[in-house]
Amino acid sequence: MGTFAVTGSASGMGHQVVQKLRDAGHTVIGVDIKQADIVADLSTPEGRQTAAVGVLDASGSRLDGAVLAAGLGPGPGADRVRLIAQVNYFGVVDLLDAWRPALAAADRAKVVVFSSNSTTTTPIVPARTVRAFLANDADRAIRSVRFFGKNASAFAYAASKIAVSHWVRRTAVTAAWAGAGIRLNALAPGAIMTPLLQEGLSSPNEAKRIRSFPVPLGGFGDAGQLADWVLFMLSDAADFLCGSVLFVDGGSDAYFRADDWPKPVPAYRLVSYFRRFKGYSASA
Ligand code: NAD
Repeated sequence: MGTFAVTGSASGMGHQVVQKLRDAGHTVIGVDIKQADIVADLSTPEGRQTAAVGVLDASGSRLDGAVLAAGLGPGPGADRVRLIAQVNYFGVVDLLDAWRPALAAADRAKVVVFSSNSTTTTPIVPARTVRAFLANDADRAIRSVRFFGKNASAFAYAASKIAVSHWVRRTAVTAAWAGAGIRLNALAPGAIMTPLLQEGLSSPNEAKRIRSFPVPLGGFGDAGQLADWVLFMLSDAADFLCGSVLFVDGGSDAYFRADDWPKPVPAYRLVSYFRRFKGYSASA
């Protein structure tokens, strides 16, 4: 049986993951702003430090896996853009940076980061916002979506999830992660029935937008089923999964983006990447 850290453990998909892991006999260290083993506000550097250190202490600095589910959706409120930026992006990368040695100390540790199908179905997300996240510049990321006024939180949300997905893919394949035997991947849900979605549905305008959004399979996803996908991505079945972003969204991503991906790698990049790659001895 393993030891797993789960952020966003108090509600929705994170909560379902915790229950299923515990039912399977694993030890879980839940992190949330409320009702958790480690209560920490991931929207502040101090809260992230509390969460990082608390999990390392509770796990004896050895983690078989981590699930990063804490997050906020688009919504009203003057502070919403900042909260989205801090929790959805820095609440993932700061914790994973801190936990990496503990994950490397386990055998074939698995990490699942919650992305979203907003990454590929939201138009005109500013590339500079994504770049600002990846450069660890929260203030610049927040400033760069002000232009969108009352819709700023939707663009901040999509940008935070694009950035965290790119971070997962860039990081997963490095010597420090794949080379240390850690399997790092992302899950990109569509609209899943959780308190986060219910918040959106409680506003008439937002509810209209959500309900009219094209979902080829129709309806909303089930939080328990998404948690089952997470458990699969934490299992031995995922030993060869690395840097993937798995869409479980009723078909919306495929509907909007059928021909955009997969695409061949540009030849100039292939040559340099082949030359650079030396292989990682510890990952087998
Ligand atoms: P949820 O609101 O049910 O749960 C999110 C959890 O994050 C809550 O327990 C909340 O307390 C915690 N959290 C929020 N701010 C925090 C903070 N500052 N510090 C610590 N914890 C904090 O949401 P959910 O729908 O289960 O979402 C889980 C993840 O899935 C999120 O990252 C979300 O962006 C993503 N997602 C959700 C949907 C959906 O339709 N529900 C779709 C795509 C992606």
